[in-house]
Amino acid sequence: MKKTTIIFAIAAIVLFGCEESTEYRVDHRVNQYVENFFSEGEKRGYVFKRDNLIIVVQKGVGDVNKYDGLRHQAYCHKDPETGQVTIRIDEDYVESESATIECTIFHELGHGLLNRTHGVGVLTPSIMKGHYWTNYFYSDMKDELIDELFENKGK
Ligand SMILES: [Zn+2]
Repeated sequence: MKKTTIIFAIAAIVLFGCEESTEYRVDHRVNQYVENFFSEGEKRGYVFKRDNLIIVVQKGVGDVNKYDGLRHQAYCHKDPETGQVTIRIDEDYVESESATIECTIFHELGHGLLNRTHGVGVLTPSIMKGHYWTNYFYSDMKDELIDELFENKGK
């Protein structure tokens, strides 16, 4: 083997040989809403492993987004390689808007753990449509919205 081949082989072992692990770490300020999500899922027959979710509450998340010019209270990212779900939520929002946080968390967990998109039929009430719409209707239609959230897993 040429020297460069050996170096590439060692680099490949170092880079790809060690298995990437996922982590479960949820900020205590939103943990109850996450537990509510798991329990609503369990009522509907969905069991989740608690091994690939990070929820971070931090300042600045809700600042105007440089890509779309809008303010979002939260973001969800799922690593396509490891499946690690990371949700970031604005700290000021968490500390001031407790009535709507559960709906926002369920929306983001819809992305991260149920692989939901925003693509929902025009007439379908859905947590996945957007924060403002669902926050407004959430208390009146909670059961229906949560049914829809889990029933359309992967859509
Ligand atoms: Zn969304």
